[in-house]
Order: sequence, then C-alpha cells, then structure tokens
Amino acid sequence: MNSRYFQPESLMMSHGYKPELSEGAIKCPIFQTSTFVFKTAKEGKEFFELAYGKREKSPGEEPGLIYSRLNNPYLQILEERLCLWDQAEECTVFESGMSAISTVLLEFLRPGDTLLYSKPVYGGTDHFINKVLPQYGIKGIGFTPEDSLDDIVNRVAGTLVKLVYVETPANPTNALFDLELCRNVADRLSTDSCPVYLVVDNTYMGPLWQHPLKHGADLVMYSATKYIGGHSDLIAGAVLGKKELMKRVRTLRTFLGNMAGPWTGWLLMRSLETLKVRMTQQAENAAKVADFLAAHPKVQKVYYLGHLPENSAQYRIFKKQLTCAGAMVSFDIQGGEKEAFTFLDNLKLFHLAVSLGSTESLAEHPATMTHSDVSDEDRAQLRISDKLIRLSIGVEHHEDLIWDIQQALEKVV
Ligand SMILES: *Cc1c(COP(=O)(O)O)cnc(C)c1O
Repeated sequence: MNSRYFQPESLMMSHGYKPELSEGAIKCPIFQTSTFVFKTAKEGKEFFELAYGKREKSPGEEPGLIYSRLNNPYLQILEERLCLWDQAEECTVFESGMSAISTVLLEFLRPGDTLLYSKPVYGGTDHFINKVLPQYGIKGIGFTPEDSLDDIVNRVAGTLVKLVYVETPANPTNALFDLELCRNVADRLSTDSCPVYLVVDNTYMGPLWQHPLKHGADLVMYSATKYIGGHSDLIAGAVLGKKELMKRVRTLRTFLGNMAGPWTGWLLMRSLETLKVRMTQQAENAAKVADFLAAHPKVQKVYYLGHLPENSAQYRIFKKQLTCAGAMVSFDIQGGEKEAFTFLDNLKLFHLAVSLGSTESLAEHPATMTHSDVSDEDRAQLRISDKLIRLSIGVEHHEDLIWDIQQALEKVV
C-alpha cells in the first residue's frame, strides 16, 4: 500500500508542478515572460537541437525552455493536467477553441481533400469548413445521426477523405453520434498509405462525461472557454491525443503562434481545481430543470439526454458513450419566436447570452443567435426552429433556477 492511482480531481492542485523550482510557492506562478535565459551557450544549442527535432532526447533529459511561443512552464503544467482527464498522451493549449479547431483542420487537410463532418457543428466551425476551407480547395461533406455507415461511405465515393470531424452531442438539440460508427467510417475510408483520422469536438461534455479517445477518436478537442474555464472570463482551446499526431499539431501551433498566453493559462489551472465539483453540480441541477420543463404545459418538447426513451437508438449510444446526461437542456416552447423572446426577456436569474458550461446559467435562442448562419434547409432538418430555446445550467440553487423559468413562462400568453 505505498502507491495509489489518484483520480484526476485529486491531482488538479499539484500534478506536474515542483514548488522547489518556484521559491516554494504552493501555487504555480504566472510565468509572464517572453524568453528564457540559458546558463551557457552549449545549453542553448542543446535546447534548440531538441526543439527542432535534430536529435532524440537522451534518457532523463527534459526539453529546455527557450521562448514562450514554443513553451512556457504554465502551459506545460496545464497540458499535463488536462491529459489526466482523457488519459491522453499529449495536449496542446490554444488561445481559443477556434484556433484549436482551425489548426487541426489545416494540419491534416490539403488542397483536393475532403472533410467528412457531423451536422450540425458549432457555428464558427461550420463557417471555417464551408466558407474558409473551400478557398484552399478543401471540401466539406456532412452527415447526420440518421445516416448509416453505408450512407456515409457512399456519399463520399470518389473523393479523398482525410478527416472525419464529429461534434457529439450536437448543439443545440443534443443529438448523439455513435463514435464507434464514426471510427468504422474512418477505417473503411483509410488505406495503408493514407490513414483517415477521427477528430471529436468534446466541448459539450467537457473532459468529464465523455472520453472520445476511448471510443476510437485519434484527437479530442475542446473550447476551454466552456466547462474547462467555466467562469465566462476567458477564451481558450485544447487538443489532446497520441504523441505522433500531437507533434504535428504542436508544431503548427508554434508557427501559427496561437498558443494561450500566461494569464489565460493561469486562470485555466485555477479553474481545473474545481472542474469536477462544478460540472457535477451543473449536471444535478440540469436534471431537475429538465424534469420541471417536461411537465410544464407551455413546453412542447425537451431535448435532454436524461430523458431519452430506453428502447431508442439514441439511448443505446448514450449508454455506450456517456457517463452523464450533461448540463445542456434545450426545449421547444409552445408558439414561435415571439413566445420564445417573451420568455427570454423575462428571465431574472438566467443571463441572456450565448456560450455554455459556466458557473452562471445562460439562455439563448439558437435560430436567431448561435445558429442564425445555418441555412434554412439545414435548420429545418436539424429541428432548430423558432420555438427552440437553449439553456446552459450553472451552479446556482436549482429551486431558484426553476422559479425563474416558471415565472418567465407565466409571462408568455
Ligand atoms: C464555443 C465552441 C467552440 C469555439 O470555441 P471558442 O473558444 O469560442 O473559440 C467550438 N466548438 C464548440 C462545440 C463550442 O461550443
């Protein structure tokens, strides 16, 4: 009994940090520095040799610190801590979720390639895939949870697919994609000389409730702005996965220069200490809010993963892939945009704002806000109607949240 596997939440206060290197400070200081001083010219030479891959690491050698675009202690410690949740080999942190996503897409796609992606994806991602990548000769082809393996494979016949990109649960309706099926799609499209990678945006479930790397994903990424940051006070992103792929992601980050800065890194480390308790409380509150909504006469339909019918295909995916129903609850209000807006304008405790995963509860109208850029046709297919409202549940007392929803629904006539 002299060693033990500690759970990630037990290690978020200490993992990867050596107080003796920072005057004994119990907390990792902010390393607000652009460059690092070498002890000798020989040391500088050795650090560069490693950084540029000119030689392999000797046993026990730690990569030296050179310049903060390449590396910085706060980034390194933060990345090591993030690895624990997903049991990933490596992690890189970015200055936003979008920079994490765009860096991965740019690294693994070339002109002439096709990207297969789940629909709907986050608005910014959709824009990057459909408005930016085509300018580089890269084409996006979408699929939905209703599509079978053969449907998807047939749809991309004759194209060169390099990447399968999936966001599950889908925002804002919580529709689930089967990652095992996505893995099989990637394998069917892979050849010996050209592997197809599966990349999953796991922002909606945070690092706690779904672990895509265990379900066949090659890379998992996050908008760390959401659950990981969790306080609506920063923008950041992260990518995790196997060493060989992460080396490519890290290298492109070095040359795009889109790593997170010291202050953001420090805030993220502080946030990680409470990740588990925050998310657990948020999920508990969400279950109570969803139950209340489901029983309310002014609510037509609730989109909540804890309410999936037990004999449904979606429920089977839920059981296989997720450990929790999460803290995102959407619902159709009786009526349309007018009723939805009346509800939103009368909330007193919820904030009317986009984003999600934070300590405070948020409410928004996807059709005219987060998903207003999605084509009418796609919106109809994906059930993003004028009566849909999306809630992100925070850590407040659940009875206060329910009171707020109830009084705002009463204002809707
Ligand atoms: C917010 C979000 C992003 C973009 O992240 P930023 O940190 O805003 O750049 C990407 N994917 C999902 C699912 C998101 O919710």
